[in-house]
Amino acid sequence: MSRSPVWHPFTQHAIEPAMPSVVRTEGAWLETNDGRHILDAISSWWVVTHGHRHSRIMEAIRNATEMLDQVIFAGLTHQPAEQLASALIEIVPAGLDWVFYSDSGSTSVEVALKMALGHFRNIGAPRSRIVAMEHSYHGDTIGTMSIGARGVFNAAYEPLLFEVDTIPFPAAGREQETLDRFEVLSRDRRAAALIVEPLVLGAGGMLMYPAWVLAELKKITEASGTLLIADEVMTGWGRTGSTFACEQASISPDILCTSKGLTGGAIPLAATLATDAIFQAHYSVDRKKTFFHSSSYTANPIACAAAFANVEVWRDEPVAERIAALSAGQAVGLRRFRNNANFTDCRATGTIAALDLRAGSAGYLAEIGPKLRAFFLERGLLVRPLGNVLYVLPPYCITAEELDGLYDAIEEAGERFGSRS
Ligand SMILES: *Cc1c(COP(=O)(O)O)cnc(C)c1O
Repeated sequence: MSRSPVWHPFTQHAIEPAMPSVVRTEGAWLETNDGRHILDAISSWWVVTHGHRHSRIMEAIRNATEMLDQVIFAGLTHQPAEQLASALIEIVPAGLDWVFYSDSGSTSVEVALKMALGHFRNIGAPRSRIVAMEHSYHGDTIGTMSIGARGVFNAAYEPLLFEVDTIPFPAAGREQETLDRFEVLSRDRRAAALIVEPLVLGAGGMLMYPAWVLAELKKITEASGTLLIADEVMTGWGRTGSTFACEQASISPDILCTSKGLTGGAIPLAATLATDAIFQAHYSVDRKKTFFHSSSYTANPIACAAAFANVEVWRDEPVAERIAALSAGQAVGLRRFRNNANFTDCRATGTIAALDLRAGSAGYLAEIGPKLRAFFLERGLLVRPLGNVLYVLPPYCITAEELDGLYDAIEEAGERFGSRS
């Protein structure tokens, strides 16, 4: 067989074993060309919410293609984008009245940063600093890498990254340090925005913090006139137990980014929602105050139709019940590791569960990820640890039995790779 010319993401091709080729997806399962069935325990990188190929979303995509393909979104509009925007502002936390479309989580965050800086420039109070949280991840573009955690993933690009202020991750018992640091940073009124992943920092290692910290951060932004950007790209659409994680802190951010679960994970789309104040800062007969941003595929009608179908699924199906059942299942699954010395920091927020494998030295850590992945794949399970952090972030249609099997395998992985000695 000839060599594939495909360069895969986050993949070291020199050591990656041959990749299975997926020919079909259904519910929580992937089927490969050699007839294997693999349980998608990570929702295909956190995008699939209800399950793969949800019939209603697939049907909406098919129907949309009967009428529309891409249509330029400057100077023209279309019903799929209009009806989705109207539906979104009803679902997100109150006060987010404007919807700006783009096509990936990273772009939705770039848009948020530009909105924040544009807002302050247009109201004549130039603020340009961004405050970010330690260990955060907001995407892989230059701007989003700049506001994310620095490390091996972006060391080569460091010379291009802009400077940000950071607040420490609010680790249990040390939350006040985070709040104090932010308070200090807010004093000189130079910060345009604080950007956070609400409740769960995904790529940073499924790190979790309580809702009250988010509520306190919000208070500080209000007192100092700093904008709060909630990057709900991963946490949105039920992952943390509520539709959006911000709900659990009873707060509305000034800007909210959503992507991954927006179409149920079927097709790329993103949206950045903003308050009327931010829109009004750009609303002017002065064309210099225009929000200068677009992607070629802004508001793709087929993607918007898929997202609207997703909203209908939320409206018409017992999605909240499924999320509650899965969240309960995750808590049960984790319970068996309470006294398992191979693991530490068993934690869950809504449908997301994570635990850290105790695995020898840091040098070994670099090797453990691929070994664990191979271990799970042999058992028909798609699990993709973040270093030594094992997490289960499945589609909501996963059954209790499938979940149980997954935890069996995690327990076995602990015995095989853990260093409890
Ligand atoms: C995945 C992710 C992004 C980036 O989304 P892409 O669609 O991969 O560009 C941004 N923020 C968070 C919190 C994410 O988890």
